[in-house]
Amino acid sequence: MPRASRPVGGPGLTQVRRITGEIPGPRSRELLARQRTLVPAGVGSTLPVFVEAAGGGVIVDADGNSFIDFGSGIAVTTVGNSAPAVAERAAAQLRRFTHTCFLVNPYESYLDVCAKLNEYAPVPGEKRTLLVNSGAEAVENAVKIARAATGRPGVVVFDHAFHGRTLLTMSLTAKNKPYKQGFGPFAPEVHRAPMAYPYRWPSGPADCAAEAADALEDLLDRQVGADNAAAVLVEPIQGEGGFIVPAPGFLPRVAEICRARGILLIADEVQSGIARTGHMFACEHEGVRPDLITTAKGLAGGLPLGAVTGRAELMDAVPAGGLGGTFSGNPVACEAALGVFAEIEAHDLLERALAIGDTMLGRLDALRDAHPVIGDVRGRGAMAAIELVEPFGERLPAPDLAARIARRCHAEGLMVLTAGSYGNVLRFLPPLSIPDDLLVEGLSLLGEAVAAEAASVV
Ligand code: PLP
Repeated sequence: MPRASRPVGGPGLTQVRRITGEIPGPRSRELLARQRTLVPAGVGSTLPVFVEAAGGGVIVDADGNSFIDFGSGIAVTTVGNSAPAVAERAAAQLRRFTHTCFLVNPYESYLDVCAKLNEYAPVPGEKRTLLVNSGAEAVENAVKIARAATGRPGVVVFDHAFHGRTLLTMSLTAKNKPYKQGFGPFAPEVHRAPMAYPYRWPSGPADCAAEAADALEDLLDRQVGADNAAAVLVEPIQGEGGFIVPAPGFLPRVAEICRARGILLIADEVQSGIARTGHMFACEHEGVRPDLITTAKGLAGGLPLGAVTGRAELMDAVPAGGLGGTFSGNPVACEAALGVFAEIEAHDLLERALAIGDTMLGRLDALRDAHPVIGDVRGRGAMAAIELVEPFGERLPAPDLAARIARRCHAEGLMVLTAGSYGNVLRFLPPLSIPDDLLVEGLSLLGEAVAAEAASVV
């Protein structure tokens, strides 16, 4: 049975960390037992505490525990959970009408969201935006549009990439378990190039960008044939792959390589986009101007909405009826997205993301200096990570250590997520609404968890 009176979320929620006992608590354990009888095992939860309210920088569960939020529901509640402009605009739209299907009867808020994305996206020239329901759907549509516009079938993706769980997007995704195992056969015409991953590049970081770009050129010219490639699809910061920031200069080289061959560049900004990194889009950090950009997670504050924004002549290559869907660009989600842009603009959240990044990266660098099990610290803005390795030299991934540190953080009331092709990355994605004292408290808790677990491996 639900609790009689439930806390209200949003920024008014009391901003404290509070742990009442074992995590998950008794009520969450009861609900988890119920979940196992109702929901397939393939739907897992990082931390199965059942949420009652969230806002500012905390998540409150059904046992009254209050966690510092370093996850934002995987980079979604960037402007804060139930942020005022999002909640008010979505609630007002719920009372006006919930759905017409934009393909049947359009409404203005869809246009307003497209206008915002066209204004902000660093795509050159005149732009158009298509709204969909999710990140995977945005990526699928970007590939459809690229193929229709170029008349070419091939798509080049990178090692460590994650693009979604549908047939095409899991085919574009690199990591086998748990995303692909048992789900084949996969979609054809997908080609994979090495990612310029400085920490793990065989010859070291100095030549990483140049050598990875050479490998991409070789793949395109020798294996795929540039005339067969519609697009190169890249995450400007790889998300699920472990917050890999490509070596400086790599993304601009990729853009040049594409331009020289008439191949489209698609930036998958589903995780890195919408103010997360201190720019509206992560590709702006290196001045890269893609032909198409996909967004989703942070776009509508948690309501399901994804988008493809691209050069008008490419976007218009698909005739009417070829794009869209029943729920795509739902009016409540559109109002929520307008609320997200209003929050970003009113509270200068790009600056806030940079400030959070400075605090996080400064503290994480100090932690790395103290603990050799932290092999790498990386990220941009409020998208930061540490890569855990076995001590003493070989950079061997330490996924068990990462999992133990995450569990210790959870038990102490800090919500953190793991990531990485080797499962050895802890990633930090606080909402930009997190108060400074909670941010610092969370980083201190993380430091204590690293110290305690590192002590057990040396
Ligand atoms: N692309 C990237 C870069 C992502 O990080 C994700 C999700 O994590 C997706 C696509 C898929 O998005 P969704 O889970 O909304 O389908």
